[in-house]
Amino acid sequence: MSPDKTLLQKFHSKLQHMSNSIIKTQPKHEIIIPDQEYNEKNITLYLLEDDKIYAESLTLQLEQYGFKCSLFTNTLDFYTAIKQNKPSIILSDIMMTDDQFGGTKVISQLKQEVGLSSPIVVFSQRSDFETKLEAVRANADTYLVKPIEVDSLLTILDNLVPKHYLHEDYRILIIDDDLQLANHYALVLQKAGMQASVINEPNLVGDAIIEFNPDIILMDLYMPECNGIELARLVRYHPEYLHIPIVFLSTETQLTQQLNALRMGGDDFLTKPIEDHYLSECLAIRAARARSLNELMIKDSMTGLFKHSIIKERLKSEMERTKRNHSKLTFAMIDLDHFKKINDTYGHLMGDNVIKRLARLLKVRMRNSDIIGRYGGEEFSVILPECGAEQAKEIFDELRRVFGEMTYNIEGEKFTVTCSIGISEFCDNITMEEFINQADQALYKVKESGRNRVVIYQQS
Ligand code: GH3
Ligand code: MG
Ligand code: MG
Repeated sequence: MSPDKTLLQKFHSKLQHMSNSIIKTQPKHEIIIPDQEYNEKNITLYLLEDDKIYAESLTLQLEQYGFKCSLFTNTLDFYTAIKQNKPSIILSDIMMTDDQFGGTKVISQLKQEVGLSSPIVVFSQRSDFETKLEAVRANADTYLVKPIEVDSLLTILDNLVPKHYLHEDYRILIIDDDLQLANHYALVLQKAGMQASVINEPNLVGDAIIEFNPDIILMDLYMPECNGIELARLVRYHPEYLHIPIVFLSTETQLTQQLNALRMGGDDFLTKPIEDHYLSECLAIRAARARSLNELMIKDSMTGLFKHSIIKERLKSEMERTKRNHSKLTFAMIDLDHFKKINDTYGHLMGDNVIKRLARLLKVRMRNSDIIGRYGGEEFSVILPECGAEQAKEIFDELRRVFGEMTYNIEGEKFTVTCSIGISEFCDNITMEEFINQADQALYKVKESGRNRVVIYQQS
């Protein structure tokens, strides 16, 4: 028998909690994060490039962003490696010294032999029709002309690499007064790989949405205390929940009643009794679409990080959760140093690249459970659940160090950029505004005292 999923989740969060306290006692450079937290971030990249020096410098840069790179300087090694293990992504030169279309040829061959499905980026010094046609025939996703600009390559890779958040289990909140039936639905959905949470008292809906963050609300139409139409309307009073589809489930077959339910804020109507596989399929399709649409709404398009308003919403719910669980919570504000000067000296586009790099670094460095946002122009914020300020300081010190060592090239000139970080640990009875303000005050201290540091807020 397979173990109960919620039990497993509880166990996982306990483990996470334990590992967090272990991390605290470890020396700075050895911050260990459990493997599964990172599995979507450890993207394997195979690079085929016979110019070894160039290839090594490229892989070195890509590794800073969490790509696990393997370098091949000849097609045979490349071919053998892919036969054994398919990487998440392939980056390949087209021209090889011994064969003018060596790169694309070996890719085409592999496609035929092992059904290669990894995204493929090819590059070449040439940009003529014949070479591009070779790339098309090898089914390459993107064609780049050398020299490759690392920042544009990263943007391309970002778009090609599967996004872990789109593949997280779908979360379905079930509201039904018939607890037995609701539990049955929950079981069906869990078996189909989704997470389900059941409430049978309509008045708990607000808390359940905050805590469970559902992709879909599945709601019974007839309940004694308040009916589904009323409850949908009540949920729709909250603009922040507008994006969550509400699917009604009822024995109701009259079309006018169904229309009425949809008019009051419902999105779909399923009729009981419903076959198990039909229920889970319907909800999975809806959840997938809702999640993609939601991504566009809540993420900043330039960095893919949460927008300001979303960070505040998430902070609010994390503060509630922390109070209930008596656990820890840290909030951080990050600001780029002398950024105006970067823009003025190297141009706004280069400035944008710096912002994107910090965003990517945050994505690969922070745990999946951390919530990262672009707070404003060149300001970022991070919510770290189950993490105290001291531990957060170690993580951010390392991040700050790595970021400060990254070099940017522009017309032969190299430069680096630093950032300042203020952090604050949550204590009961402070408001969200106070909590944010504390991190801001800590950040101000860093700026005042010379920048490029991490400071923890201290009550004066
Ligand atoms: P400090 O070290 O004190 O933070 O100095 P600073 O120059 O970084 O701070 P200031 O707030 O004076 O300037 C921030 C600059 O960031 C001004 C603004 O033009 C720039 N900025 C904000 N958003 C963006 C963006 O999306 N792209 C680019 N390139 N620049 C941006
Ligand atoms: Mg600023
Ligand atoms: Mg700044």
